[in-house]
Amino acid sequence: MESQDILQLARDAGVRLVMFAYCDNSGIIRGKATHVSGLERRLASGIGVTTAMQAMGDMDRLQVMDGMGPVGEFRMVPDLDTFTVLPYAPGRALVLVDMITMDRQPWDACPRHFLKRMLAKAHAMGITFQAAFEPEWYLARREGDSFIPMDESLDNSTLGASMAREVVDDVVDALEAQGLQLEQYHTEVGHGQQELSITHADALRAADNHIIYRETVRNVAWNHGWLASFAPKPFPDQAGNGNHTHISAWDTAGQRNLFYNPDDPMQLSELAYHFIAGIMEHLPGLTALTSPSMNSYRRISPGSWSTAYICYGPDNREAALRIPSRFWGTEMASTNLEYRPADSSSNPYLALGAIIAAGLDGIQRGQMPAAGLRIDTDPARLAPDELAALGIRRLPSTLLEAIHALEADATLTDALGPLLTNSCLTVRKADWELFSQHDADFEIRHHFYKF
Ligand code: GLU
Ligand code: MG
Repeated sequence: MESQDILQLARDAGVRLVMFAYCDNSGIIRGKATHVSGLERRLASGIGVTTAMQAMGDMDRLQVMDGMGPVGEFRMVPDLDTFTVLPYAPGRALVLVDMITMDRQPWDACPRHFLKRMLAKAHAMGITFQAAFEPEWYLARREGDSFIPMDESLDNSTLGASMAREVVDDVVDALEAQGLQLEQYHTEVGHGQQELSITHADALRAADNHIIYRETVRNVAWNHGWLASFAPKPFPDQAGNGNHTHISAWDTAGQRNLFYNPDDPMQLSELAYHFIAGIMEHLPGLTALTSPSMNSYRRISPGSWSTAYICYGPDNREAALRIPSRFWGTEMASTNLEYRPADSSSNPYLALGAIIAAGLDGIQRGQMPAAGLRIDTDPARLAPDELAALGIRRLPSTLLEAIHALEADATLTDALGPLLTNSCLTVRKADWELFSQHDADFEIRHHFYKF
């Protein structure tokens, strides 16, 4: 889109405020709005924000970091293709931004730029990526300090789908009005829990879409008097909220799925196995970016389909990587890998960029996953010595373990670069220090309605 198209769209829709938005290192979506009278200028020159925002944790406690403090600004410069008039908020629009330095270069601490860098690296290797997120969320209301789920409906319950109909149908309308195509909808196993997925897109657009999706769901629910919670585990006695991440590799023309080989028993190519090997190797550190909040580790546990073990298998929903069965008739196009230890407290640019960095490392080194990691059963049903014999390790079971694993993973930290590594680790550590001193109620109250 050109800037003149945006000005026209804004005029036609009677827009007054345009939110320039980004997702920070804590997975929080933040932004500042310009009045439409300044839009033309702001589209070109952006809106200034203190660099300190990338050292801000999800409790708004500013961390001390070189290059992110009271001195200095980055500019939020919009990607014009992400401009959307908000169907749920009359008179408002939103555009997603890149973080740009004062000398007009991408800022090293910009998560969106990190994903772009990983995609450029893949492109140089002849690979492009398609991705789709599969977000789960609860509808609930607040009563004092408690949150009450919308209903007590069951998994895949048509009754639950009826009870949530007004909200869900408005969500679908609003997504469609913004060009996001609905793929599937069903109620999940938790009371009041919904799962509504949208169609895959190229990886950068998929991450952008996830931000637009989160904004849309929360706002539409709010308009109906409900809170939509994307927290990884908003109710300790109910199912967690995953954000399973589907990814497939294509040639640069977007014609051939490079993960597909019809002659393989799992219909996977050698390149797919290399990618899987990279994921298996880097999973401990990856979880710090794909399941990055304190609340994430209440979700990741054996026996809850959130996965807890480093392994993969066909349609195995307790494995960290599921190889989904193909759609009949479109086997090549529908071949993908589903990364499961992911939730919506993550920054989708960091999460997807890190998954790609790990997979590319497996490809570059021609790695193959160890034979024992392919598993056709629930790993939680295996005894510790059986797991050890197969070489299957547990995913990090606390945020601190994940932080240490990321710190020790040179592939991931090199990919992120020093500034982004340091800022991610610093805000994560601050979260750990705070939340580990408090109980589950405190943790849930401060995660319930943030993502
Ligand atoms: N709610 C589960 C999770 O936390 C996933 C259930 C499923 O869709 O398989 O990931
Ligand atoms: Mg689900």
